[in-house]
Amino acid sequence: MDPVTSSNPAGQRIRTRFAPSPTGFIHLGNIRSALYPWAFARSTGGDFILRIEDTDLERSTQAAVDVILESMSWLGLDPDEGPYYQMQRMDRYKDVLGQMKAAGLVYPCYMSVAELDALRERQMASKEKPRYDGTWRPEPGKTLPPVPEGVLPVLRFRNPVGGVVAWDDKVKGRIEISNDELDDLVIARPDGTPTYNFCVVVDDIDMRITHVIRGDDHVNNTPRQINIFRALGKEPPVYAHLPTVLNEQGEKMSKRNGAKPVTQYREEGFLSDAMVNYLARLGWSHGDDEIFSREQFLQWFNLDHLGRSAAQFDEAKLRWVNAQHMKASPDGALALLVAQQLRKRGIDGFFEEHLARICGLFKDRCDTTVALADWAARFYRPVEPNAEERAKYVADGVRPAIGMLARMLEACPWEKFAIGEAVKEVLRATGMKMPQLAMPVRVLVMGTAQTPSLDAVLELCDRETVLERLRAA
Ligand code: GLU
Repeated sequence: MDPVTSSNPAGQRIRTRFAPSPTGFIHLGNIRSALYPWAFARSTGGDFILRIEDTDLERSTQAAVDVILESMSWLGLDPDEGPYYQMQRMDRYKDVLGQMKAAGLVYPCYMSVAELDALRERQMASKEKPRYDGTWRPEPGKTLPPVPEGVLPVLRFRNPVGGVVAWDDKVKGRIEISNDELDDLVIARPDGTPTYNFCVVVDDIDMRITHVIRGDDHVNNTPRQINIFRALGKEPPVYAHLPTVLNEQGEKMSKRNGAKPVTQYREEGFLSDAMVNYLARLGWSHGDDEIFSREQFLQWFNLDHLGRSAAQFDEAKLRWVNAQHMKASPDGALALLVAQQLRKRGIDGFFEEHLARICGLFKDRCDTTVALADWAARFYRPVEPNAEERAKYVADGVRPAIGMLARMLEACPWEKFAIGEAVKEVLRATGMKMPQLAMPVRVLVMGTAQTPSLDAVLELCDRETVLERLRAA
């Protein structure tokens, strides 16, 4: 079936959005709520919109916006529209508020905070759910209390009375909430500024959002938002509420309990495609497929295979996924990333082609580009042989052989085969076995005995460096 019409019976163009609040840095749990709407828009030929929900002036920061934009750009989650900023849309919200006032969809409420508190206490004492009691809600034939002097009212939304609000959530299935559980929501503060749920609805209408894919911490807002949609004469979008992402301790992932900003994973040497792969699997599946490319993900993604239970972050698995992507990465592409890591360490002046060959040789044993840069650095900076390994392998008995090898390498053509022949020649002359010579040479040249094959490693190290390191035996 055509993906557009199958996911959207009306057949209209799919429009999704990511609507982060820039309060604190964005972590993996948050950015997954960008990945799915992005993927859904891309896989259906629709549009993906970025909207920054920055109305919480005390907690929103430009730095947080920057991390959102940088994280999305790193992961390739490019919006087709936006970023729109809610703070820049205040006039529009006030306009709609004016229309709602004129249409009798909202009403002023003068109940003071002290009165509201007292009401809540009375309700709690009689074991009722605390809710606004409609004191100021106009009804035919009802006399409202006298308007107190000098008090600015809030505006409340006339929630429908009776009946249910229902939607078929793409993750959670059918959800029905009785209107009687929803009180009349404040949609404008005394100073006239609109409140959160109202802005979201105006935006989702204006931005013609067809599918809202977001964290399930918003499920409770949805019936209220649907009622506002309907009051404004609009059909609500399709909703998909994603289960929480838990951290390794099984708590909700949050900046307060150790979550890292998304961009930190770039610094720690994770590949963008691996992150997309890992995050995609954190709440969505395509059979048993664990490793896939961005293209495969977009080909396969749909809302029907979103997971229903909370997903748990697992760093070891992320590393494994990253390792698989590194193995599959062209050496040249890895070299560009490793070059960035090396420059951060003040190592420069290498040739990318040379670095690419190093990447090709070592990428199988690394799970991040930081680990790969650790290897690459050994070719460009002096190495400090691991003391234990040095003591174990660079024994007096092997020094003559090492000296002999150094002399042979002074003259031999500098390529793998000839280097390998030189090594074998020393083995023949001394009667030693390969590991007896190869291990100490690795320790001296690379700092550790655990390296790929000796001839391949030596070939990538320049002759003078090798000789110098061998002479230090
Ligand atoms: N700004 C909300 C948040 O960051 C998201 C709102 C929404 O997606 O509707 O949690």
